[in-house]
Amino acid sequence: MNSSIKDELLGKNMEELQDYMMEIGEPAFRGRQLFKWIYSKEINSFYDMSDLPRELRKKLDLTARISIPRVLKQRVSADGTRKYLLELRDKKRIETVLIPQGQEKDSRYTICISTQVGCPIGCSFCATGQAGFQRNMDYHEIIGQVLGSKRELKRKLKTDEENIISNVVYMGMGEPFLNYDEMIKSIQMINHPKGLNIGQRHMTVSTSGEVNGIRKLAREELQVTLAVSLHACDDELRNHLVPLNRKYSLDVLKDAIEYYISETNRRVTFEYVMLDEVNIRKLDADNMIKLVKPLLANVNLIPYNEVIGLSFKKPSRQKILQFYSWLMEGGINVTVREEKGADIMAACGQLRSGPNIYKSKN
Ligand code: SF4
Repeated sequence: MNSSIKDELLGKNMEELQDYMMEIGEPAFRGRQLFKWIYSKEINSFYDMSDLPRELRKKLDLTARISIPRVLKQRVSADGTRKYLLELRDKKRIETVLIPQGQEKDSRYTICISTQVGCPIGCSFCATGQAGFQRNMDYHEIIGQVLGSKRELKRKLKTDEENIISNVVYMGMGEPFLNYDEMIKSIQMINHPKGLNIGQRHMTVSTSGEVNGIRKLAREELQVTLAVSLHACDDELRNHLVPLNRKYSLDVLKDAIEYYISETNRRVTFEYVMLDEVNIRKLDADNMIKLVKPLLANVNLIPYNEVIGLSFKKPSRQKILQFYSWLMEGGINVTVREEKGADIMAACGQLRSGPNIYKSKN
């Protein structure tokens, strides 16, 4: 059979895999076995599924496929952060970042995943946004990047630790809410107790302010954290930094966030990239206090990670602390995010899908 017309099994849930097995004349429990091989062992070769009969493995190999993306290239930061370049079936490339939460040896990792190939939002400080948009990712590709990355991580660290990835943040390439349905399906699958089994409370979805997505998420009854990338607290500056603001102004965004909070009773996090001489003036701090304080939200300050070809600069330590203090004194619950992976262009706003920055092979 031509491989292009094989049935894709990646992304099917347990019931769907059981149904699939019955359709091809096999007992339903074989579907449960397949589920485990795919989602908790990250295996995509039927020949490696040792508890399936040999004949069945051959049959599946002829009729089906499991397209867990390949890690094409990778880099490891001095701080243990890993960046993977993955290739999807149509040869499009995405980046995924794995951030250790402790010492590398027995650490758990947070995975920062992509939902689109490129990004249509075009934030002026962001490498992904400047590189343009190619397409949305299917939900099986979103899950596949977690599985492919986990498999590679386990192989590199020589571990069988099933829970090596403990947190998922939707903060990689793309605006998740512009690929809403696929993103939601991927959350449900990543959360499945017999699969990746990552609790919803360990997942964060980040948006640049796509208000329809915020309102829809409010009605999903999920336990994930919503993070909103703010980056400026007046419309003029935000129009320039996050062009989506021209469509949904700060007032409209605030309304959507208020709705989200009233529906879910959950705290929202604001992400704020700190750009020297641009958005960390006293006036910016005052505007932020006015906007954020009534929402009882948390603020994450992210000192900018410089991108080759863009003129934005990272502020000095002193300026970072000054801005932080203004917010603290204004009663904001604020942290400065310890940035990881900047030396391998894996930090916030630095992802691109080209292989050119993977000079050192690890
Ligand atoms: S910061 Fe996020 S939303 Fe903005 S262009 Fe980059 S990936 Fe897209």
